[in-house]
Amino acid sequence: MNQRNNRRLVLFPGPIQGHINPMLQLAQILHDRGFSITILHTDLNSPDPSPHPSFAFRSIGDGLGQSEASTSDIVRLIMLLNARCAAPFEERLREEVSSQDAPVTCLIADALFSFARDVAERAGVRTMVLRTGGATAFRVFAGFRLLRERGYLPIAESRLEDPVPEFPPLRVKDLPRVNTGEPELFDRILNDRIEGIKDSSGLILNTFEDLEQPALSLLRQEYPIVVFPIGPFHKCGPCSSGSFLAEDRSCISWLDKQAPNSVVYVSFGSIASVNESEFSEIALGLADSQQPFLWVVRPGSVRGSELVENLPGCFLEALEERGKIVKWAPQHEVLAHRAVGAFWTHNGWNSTLESISEGVPMICMPCFSDQNVNARFVSDVWRVGVHLNNGLERRKIAEAIRKLLVEKEGEEVRERAAQFKEKANSCLMQGGSSFQSLDGLANHILSFELTNHQHKPQLRS
Ligand code: UDP
Repeated sequence: MNQRNNRRLVLFPGPIQGHINPMLQLAQILHDRGFSITILHTDLNSPDPSPHPSFAFRSIGDGLGQSEASTSDIVRLIMLLNARCAAPFEERLREEVSSQDAPVTCLIADALFSFARDVAERAGVRTMVLRTGGATAFRVFAGFRLLRERGYLPIAESRLEDPVPEFPPLRVKDLPRVNTGEPELFDRILNDRIEGIKDSSGLILNTFEDLEQPALSLLRQEYPIVVFPIGPFHKCGPCSSGSFLAEDRSCISWLDKQAPNSVVYVSFGSIASVNESEFSEIALGLADSQQPFLWVVRPGSVRGSELVENLPGCFLEALEERGKIVKWAPQHEVLAHRAVGAFWTHNGWNSTLESISEGVPMICMPCFSDQNVNARFVSDVWRVGVHLNNGLERRKIAEAIRKLLVEKEGEEVRERAAQFKEKANSCLMQGGSSFQSLDGLANHILSFELTNHQHKPQLRS
């Protein structure tokens, strides 16, 4: 660890699992570089401080009611957070700035808070933005207005196969699907967020050059800001979990008993859900594959019911012989386990990057948002996975699993996945692209004027 540098960073994570995890990982990375860390967080999904004794945690109190906080409309949730959090966040940030602790050098805010930069500017603090998705997906979201103008959005069922030449190799069906009752509002929020990033003091991305070089290079041309791709975050050093659910570690001892590269790990992240008949089809496909499987069925991941006992008999037999179901897994450890040979995923960005970093080929089943973009890149650009096309069907599921785990046909995919693992490891080593970018980020932050009570704010030259 570097020496402490008497500079404090205030980090403001979005209260969603796939946003909290990378922000806490980033906090650890910057703490290891000598910065003190204060996490300002909402009451909704507030992080557990106990695995992070070196950080200070302060709630801003978001004022969301119980029914508001439990909405499944993520866009509505983001809108509510933006409406309710600005004032309490400003109050908290000002308290931090005038406290006697190490001076606040910079705010690092999740990109979903569009008010953060303006608030921080008023408090005399520079803002950097963490976007928790990939660079490619960011460009697509930033191009939403153009995609609407050119008629690709809203997605028309008759045009699903049409190419989108502005973002090759995407087709209309790969564009982000956003489930909201308020599409115009979504566009406005998106636009505010993109503008907020443009006006910030820099953008931090959980990705690496060898993975997304073309998108990063276009991003740098299109946006007048410095971009720091310093990922994969979770491989930068030991990082504690920020999981909202308890990790069931019994799956690790179960994995210890399985043959190398034999297990398919199945998880659709923290938000995506399937209906009951899809759930049964997944179960049958797993049973038919004849391969061992570890399946995360979190509370809420099956709409309607999630009683495993209701599943077909052949599945329950398979479960006894060669399957394991848990509510939440220690995913980093699972993907790094020698027994895991394939990951059936919804392609949330964290899961995608975690899989790439461990060289685990993917079966892609994107559900919404940037997952479609990520999945297309996994199957067609990086070619480290296969798509489950045209709905869930037990035969296709079993075929995809067997292809990635055992068939000769999957050999090239497995080889490419192994090569990406090498690249993900080497970018973090001394002289590697993410290592250098992290040096650049630390120096960039150190170049900011100190802005607490002992130091005059100086934001613009
Ligand atoms: N995750 C986990 N255990 C599980 C399932 C998921 O720790 O059983 C973690 C996973 O490692 C990832 C995050 O939850 O860091 C999910 O983020 P992602 O972007 O993949 O998907 P989201 O939940 O945002 O859709």
